[in-house]
Amino acid sequence: MNEKLERLKKWEFKRSAYDLLLSTAYFDDETIAPSGGREYRYERLAYMASESYKISTDHKIETLLDELKKEDLAFEERRTVELLIKDFQKIKAIPQDVYEEYTKLTLQSTAAWQKAKSTNDYSIFKPYLLKIIATLKKIALLREPEKDVYDTLLDDYEPFMTTARYDVFFDLIKKELLPLIAKIQKAKPITDDFLYKYYPKDRQEKLMTKLKEVLGFTSDWGYMGVSMHPFTSGFSKYDVRITTAYDEHNIASAIYSLVHEAGHAFYEHQMAERFDGTILKAVSSGMHESQSRLLENFIGRRRSFIKNFYPFLKELYADQLKDVTLDDFTRAVCVAKPSLIRTDADELTYPIHILIRYELEKGIFDGSIKVEDLDEVWSDMYYKYLGIRPDDMASGILQDIHWSQGSFGYFPTYALGSAISAQIMHKLEEDIDVDGELEKGNLKVLTDYLGEHIHQYGALFDLDDLLKKATGEEFDPHYYIDYLKDKYTKLYHLDEGR
Ligand code: ZN
Repeated sequence: MNEKLERLKKWEFKRSAYDLLLSTAYFDDETIAPSGGREYRYERLAYMASESYKISTDHKIETLLDELKKEDLAFEERRTVELLIKDFQKIKAIPQDVYEEYTKLTLQSTAAWQKAKSTNDYSIFKPYLLKIIATLKKIALLREPEKDVYDTLLDDYEPFMTTARYDVFFDLIKKELLPLIAKIQKAKPITDDFLYKYYPKDRQEKLMTKLKEVLGFTSDWGYMGVSMHPFTSGFSKYDVRITTAYDEHNIASAIYSLVHEAGHAFYEHQMAERFDGTILKAVSSGMHESQSRLLENFIGRRRSFIKNFYPFLKELYADQLKDVTLDDFTRAVCVAKPSLIRTDADELTYPIHILIRYELEKGIFDGSIKVEDLDEVWSDMYYKYLGIRPDDMASGILQDIHWSQGSFGYFPTYALGSAISAQIMHKLEEDIDVDGELEKGNLKVLTDYLGEHIHQYGALFDLDDLLKKATGEEFDPHYYIDYLKDKYTKLYHLDEGR
């Protein structure tokens, strides 16, 4: 191998060693570590993170990348160099003092958000939020002076997705889904009260074991812990950690948290092993979310999938699910109704929560929304689009952690992910008899398919190129809209009796 590439490889190895230790420590912190030791841990972790940052920003590597760029490289090596250069440019544009100041600000702001949320007092968080927005604007303009601030932020989470493209996407959602949601509210409601009975946690744990088996999430490469908010950490191909969260008054919560995170986990596990520890493991947010949503909604909420664990579930909770058939249960986990909390939202109203955050973020950065009034604008938008208003701040502007961490431009990828998964699912159903395989308990046929057409490539391609490879077309949101319209029209019998 070329001597320069050899040096680059060594540097990526060193960087991944720090990443592995840091992510192990973060996983430990979120799952099992006693909260009392937090201060000690955080001081040491901050030190480790700054050491890791020094490696990531090594000037010698930047020079090396510039040299490599001029060389005649193979496809994978060229992609690696391009992605790393993009990262370096991002970091280089921000002066050290601005970066350190901003890092400190996000830590303080996250702490302020936690306090504000638990006390339901927006005024604690508001000054930090305003400061974060102002600093992000400054940083985005340092990075790309010619570009719209929000476009710069959007690109960080899904390259080449812009306000122009998201506008088309969200206009379609508004035009097609809002009337559908309105119609459903007038339709005959579907019974789902049994989902919210008391479901003791110890038996839910047994259910998780069964579900992992159904999913093919095995202990030779996967581990499941418990945390407040479920998440996935892919350390390497054969070490993928996920978490779930139990709610004793909502049986669907842990089930769909596990299925969702398993979707992320398969992505991490089925990438080419040679990508471990490299930038090619860094899949964009929208693409990653497409695989969790695909498993959670497009597969996980089908009768043929639920059938694989429903008899076991009924055995565990004979009283709670007495007289509830497989069909009743399947319909109940698909119920759509407007709600205030994004993370509790159903499949159909979920993109409206994202639409609201998208319009807010866009307005913040193009100046059409006065950030001073953000909490009121938030509430008005919920009323405008979903017909409901938060009665407190914790179920309004304080509900999500993202803004406190400076993650602006991230939310849209949640809806984008769902839309991407619809397009992939459309092709998958052309190629495979999905219900036929699920009826036989053959989920592996589907996860293998995703591994072959999507997962193995890691970050080798941008969204449109990968979709073209996997489905024959660039990103097209119509698949998503058609899927939701079809599913919910049937579920609520909307085309009958006209
Ligand atoms: Zn996710």
